[in-house]
Amino acid sequence: DTVGASLDRAVAAWPDREALVDVPSGRRWTYAEFGADVDRLAHALLASGVAKGDRVGIWAVNCPEWMLVQYATARIGAVMVNINPAYRTHEVAYVLRQAGVSFLFASLGHKTSDYRAMVEEVRGECPRLRETVYIGDPSWEALLAREATGAAFEELSCDEPINIQYTSGTTGFPKGATLSHHNILNNGYFVGELVAYTERDRICVPVPFYHCFGMVMGNLAATSHGACVVIPAPSFDSRATLEAVQAERCTSLYGVPTMFIAELSLPDFASYDLSTLRTGIMAGSPCPVEVMKRVVAEMHMEQVSICYGMTETSPVSLQTRMDDDLEHRTGTVGRVLPHLEVKVVDPATGVTRPRGSAGELCTRGYSVMLGYWDEPEKTAEVVDEGRWMHTGDLAVMREDGYVEIVGRIKDMIIRGGENIYPREIEEFLYAHPRIRDVQVVGVPHERYGEEVLACVIPADPADPLTLEELRDYCGGRLAHYKIPSRLRILDAFPMTVSGKVRKVELREKYGN
Ligand code: ATP
Ligand code: MG
Repeated sequence: DTVGASLDRAVAAWPDREALVDVPSGRRWTYAEFGADVDRLAHALLASGVAKGDRVGIWAVNCPEWMLVQYATARIGAVMVNINPAYRTHEVAYVLRQAGVSFLFASLGHKTSDYRAMVEEVRGECPRLRETVYIGDPSWEALLAREATGAAFEELSCDEPINIQYTSGTTGFPKGATLSHHNILNNGYFVGELVAYTERDRICVPVPFYHCFGMVMGNLAATSHGACVVIPAPSFDSRATLEAVQAERCTSLYGVPTMFIAELSLPDFASYDLSTLRTGIMAGSPCPVEVMKRVVAEMHMEQVSICYGMTETSPVSLQTRMDDDLEHRTGTVGRVLPHLEVKVVDPATGVTRPRGSAGELCTRGYSVMLGYWDEPEKTAEVVDEGRWMHTGDLAVMREDGYVEIVGRIKDMIIRGGENIYPREIEEFLYAHPRIRDVQVVGVPHERYGEEVLACVIPADPADPLTLEELRDYCGGRLAHYKIPSRLRILDAFPMTVSGKVRKVELREKYGN
């Protein structure tokens, strides 16, 4: 199916149910209203000369217009290019040029970001950029006034590209994954299916729409099941998120583990009524056991699901099921989604590893991207001739088919020939009462090749623990080579907009 056809079905089935609520502005759309606004915008784009295959950029924080642009571009077969709202001129100019964006939607401003000024600054460097429309500005209204004939939309094939999504840039420079209707619509549908979404669900989405977590696992999962998307704030705000869940009686809440940690740490957390929640999705990085326990017990998300995926695979390939126990929800990222395949291989030889032993996770099926936009050599490095996506993640498949993510191949520390998985040490240190958050990375060492560095955010900034205390705590409980030999106390970690810690930056900054 195409995204447009899927939306038509939702409009026909649930015209009066809510599709979208923007809490900051109080605006609301039923499916009938949302479908009509999408069609209007799609016609306006056609009337502006945007044709099938043209790249339409969106550089904006979360807002209802983001979602309208997502469905309107898909409706006419234009290729929407998601641009990270945290980008600045150098990066946005790169993306606009790399993807050949001809039409751009942008936020006016948010907090200290003046998007209009930045677009003006780079316009000269982007010769293909014809027009920019700002959200919440007269240029948006002017675009809609260009309404065309209202003729039927062209039939599209679901294998055509409709989206270029850039990866988070956790391990280096982001890459643009090109995705089709077939890729992302199926993925959104199945992710929603596994948490049993229906038209009665209301999903609070504090994660960025720019990232697949928001636009696929949020928006497409919602509309393919008739559920409602609730936007709590333009960018992540722990308080606004809990307020939105309470006021809009949300049944589902999304986030990366650090977002849940921020919500649970609010001093007045207990005063929010979150009893309408039943499910939600946590993804992007591993969830500490203590956090999962509180999410289930204190946020009432008994049916919370863990997803594993990557932008290149639309994104989700593994997911826990609603009735999985705590151990499977924290020790694993679930089992394979319907109609997909996964395997664990020896990264050097490509031979499948037996269950229970670690190797590189590979995935195959409808979800694998068409390729990196305009970078066939990079695509060939990760998608092999058999159409298997090599994820770069180390994993173990258990006997029961559930998969443990051990870490990223790039993050693995090799100290004096011993392989060390940072995740294992992080999980161990996380239980220390004086540690609020911790990241472990390898830093160069003359004799051992690499050495273990712990970057710690202390529970009490006025009383951080010392390296000696840290080593005492680990002594006798972790193998000697895994015990951090260096400690760095920090107030915060360098993060991607999708909420992931950039270990690459920690290594660069504190490597010596
Ligand atoms: P880049 O590819 O630019 O370095 P990135 O890989 O972080 O950035 P994304 O596509 O947003 O960009 O994230 C995919 C990665 O996130 C996966 O390869 C995996 O390492 C990690 N990940 C996703 N979900 C989980 C999870 N549930 N548990 C552990 N790691 C996860
Ligand atoms: Mg990646």
